[in-house]
Amino acid sequence: MRLMVLDHMLKQQSAISITGLENEFERSDRITLYRTLKTFEKKGLIHSINDGTVTKYAMCEDHCTENHHADSHLHFYCTSCKETFCLPRIKTPEIKLPGSFKMQELSLIARGLCEKCSA
Ligand SMILES: [Zn+2]
Ligand SMILES: [Zn+2]
Ligand SMILES: [Zn+2]
Repeated sequence: MRLMVLDHMLKQQSAISITGLENEFERSDRITLYRTLKTFEKKGLIHSINDGTVTKYAMCEDHCTENHHADSHLHFYCTSCKETFCLPRIKTPEIKLPGSFKMQELSLIARGLCEKCSA
């Protein structure tokens, strides 16, 4: 099961939600899928993306390790096909926070039309 999910995610061009995976693997149940995704996330294989709709998952960048994610790239949400894409070549900017604000994560979501939809 885990290998099937990982294999499927490797082939994805865009991020996938748990519902998307459920539709793909008809004989799976949501709880197993959820656990599988959480395990992968913890191991630094996939990262979760919140694009304002549902949580989606995508493969990590190479330098992600167990318990440490380094997916500091832009995510792009297509308002037409509703797909979310990782844009690993566009890094999120460093942001200086005032005083003792401590950032735990920064997510940057761009919205618009993807390559396919804008063509
Ligand atoms: Zn990661
Ligand atoms: Zn699109
Ligand atoms: Zn990403």
